[in-house]
Amino acid sequence: MAAACCGLEEETVMGEQKAPGACPRCGGAVVATDVESVRRVLCCLPLCVKNKRKFSCARCRRSLAALFTHA
Ligand SMILES: [Zn+2]
Repeated sequence: MAAACCGLEEETVMGEQKAPGACPRCGGAVVATDVESVRRVLCCLPLCVKNKRKFSCARCRRSLAALFTHA
């Protein structure tokens, strides 16, 4: 059990909601996913917690982050 969680980054999905816009690939709806990311540097001691928002297509699951990073 020793090094099971060392150096891992765990992501927990906090919620999903619809985002404006459409997938450029297939025209499907864009979904914004709020993710809480915890990086554990020492065993079982979360050192870095941050919230991220990811965008993806609800139909083809293509990541659409590049569309929104410069917005
Ligand atoms: Zn799509």
